[in-house]
Amino acid sequence: MSKPKNISKIRNIGIMAHIDAGKTTVTERILYYTGRSHKIGEVHDGEATMDWMQDEQDRGITITSAVTYCQWKTASIQIIDTPGHVDFTVEVERALRVLDGAIGVFCAVGGVEPQSETVWRQADRYKVPRMAFINKMDRTGADFFAACDSIREKLSANPVMIQVPIGAEDRFQGVIDLLTMEQIAWNDETLGAEYTAGPIDNAFRELAEEYRDKLLEAVSELDDDIMEKYLGEEDISVDELRAAIRAATIRRDMVPVLCGSALKNKGIQPLLDAIEYYLPSPKDVPPVKGEHPDTGDILEFKPEKNGPLAALIFKVSMIEGRKLSFARIYSGKIASGGDVFNPALKRKEKLSRILRMHANKRERLDEASAGDIVGIVGLKNSVTGDTLCNPDHPVFLEKMEYAQPVISIA
Ligand code: GDP
Repeated sequence: MSKPKNISKIRNIGIMAHIDAGKTTVTERILYYTGRSHKIGEVHDGEATMDWMQDEQDRGITITSAVTYCQWKTASIQIIDTPGHVDFTVEVERALRVLDGAIGVFCAVGGVEPQSETVWRQADRYKVPRMAFINKMDRTGADFFAACDSIREKLSANPVMIQVPIGAEDRFQGVIDLLTMEQIAWNDETLGAEYTAGPIDNAFRELAEEYRDKLLEAVSELDDDIMEKYLGEEDISVDELRAAIRAATIRRDMVPVLCGSALKNKGIQPLLDAIEYYLPSPKDVPPVKGEHPDTGDILEFKPEKNGPLAALIFKVSMIEGRKLSFARIYSGKIASGGDVFNPALKRKEKLSRILRMHANKRERLDEASAGDIVGIVGLKNSVTGDTLCNPDHPVFLEKMEYAQPVISIA
């Protein structure tokens, strides 16, 4: 498979959740439905994905790579692992630093829990556009609407339902898409079960119309064109509505809310569509800023393949005895076998190999460019937090409060 050609199709996302809300299950289902993970086990039987991280598997944690790549329709989705710890670890901060958007996973019974608040606030600090996925709709006590309210109340966010559930608890069947006004239902609960999209059953029509109205009202408040059409009772097309929701989500004026049950394999495909529709590409977020190592001048790097290189190492792992450095490339490109300049070391380092991490395999790339997040083999002395750049465009990317400080020039 070739690398994505179109940067506007890249989605660098994190999945954030309170422990036990279902982050692992949601991630596994995403990998399954995007067709990259051909083998899937129950979360805690330790057999799913990532065959090369044995110790992590022994603990039953499946999604442990710093980043996992998958493809859904035309979107290239890179899932950045965002550790769900309560503590403000450097690791969490770094993950938030390199992603462009995130999905908050919440339990339909518990709604927002104290731990989800912590992670949410961290994402606020990094100005990360977000969607919310209310998981576990099949559980006794599941209440989509209450979970939504808790997002508003406890996270001071503006949750906007773009779906409503069809039933709840053991009668949860699927979702109604409030943009297309179709009902999406899963007939069985096994993996790979196809879903059907069709007209809304009479029993749910009133509910759907009520919430469609609420959706239009909410979007109108954030978008003048939609407001005008809404007040004028003109038709609003699905594409127009989608574009307005996308823009508002990227501005962080709203959090689109979806629901499902990852365990019962319901709601994942529409969630994948929503990632492409509503979360930003690297082009939709502000250009990364850095500091010139000598002059202290603030430099900006646009997400352009032909621009000067600016990449940040956000995690270093040892895999099979080799050092693997994970880097987000903000601008420019790197090539396998090429050199990069590390301004902290004040020297060049050689890249021997560039790897794209899939759920169950690693793919060698000849090159990687702006928007990509890849594993690099061969950087002997670079450490987490270091910038990689061109020697004629030296830069330290933004400092991270909790990371080791940028090396100061004496
Ligand atoms: P994480 O700690 O957020 O990664 O959560 P996990 O994905 O490990 O899920 C925690 C527990 O909730 C596991 O026992 C899952 O099987 C279960 N779980 C996950 N999703 C659902 C769901 O949609 N419905 C139900 N009933 N249980 C779920």
